[in-house]
Amino acid sequence: MTKVPYEPEELVKLALKAKESAYVPYSGFHVGAALVGDDDNIYTGCNIENSSYGATICAERTAVVKAVSNGARKIKAIAVASDHEISTIPCGICLQVLSEFCQRDTLVYLSNHKGEYKACTFEEVFPYSFKLNNDI
Ligand SMILES: [Zn+2]
Repeated sequence: MTKVPYEPEELVKLALKAKESAYVPYSGFHVGAALVGDDDNIYTGCNIENSSYGATICAERTAVVKAVSNGARKIKAIAVASDHEISTIPCGICLQVLSEFCQRDTLVYLSNHKGEYKACTFEEVFPYSFKLNNDI
């Protein structure tokens, strides 16, 4: 947990650094995430695989769990990075979890392995999520 004024490039760098801690003996696919909570702390996460594949947790959800368990309730921005040459997009489960804490205009930085990223709003990445009070 680091309290710093965030810049997109810094958040992407932290996501790239977080992926170095990934525990991925099965896929070998390293993913890192870094988010800014409404407490202005930065939380990072990596993917952690399990031999019971369904018990695997993605980097984005690891970062969300760390943020929320420390008291954060909103995500101001999030960066995701992986080993891929193309930008990494969160999986469906992570998008649904992120939708609980992101606003439509929350910035999402989707990075490749070099730190080259696309900036999107959360709504662009995930326009419709499950909500108990959906009104589309
Ligand atoms: Zn995921």
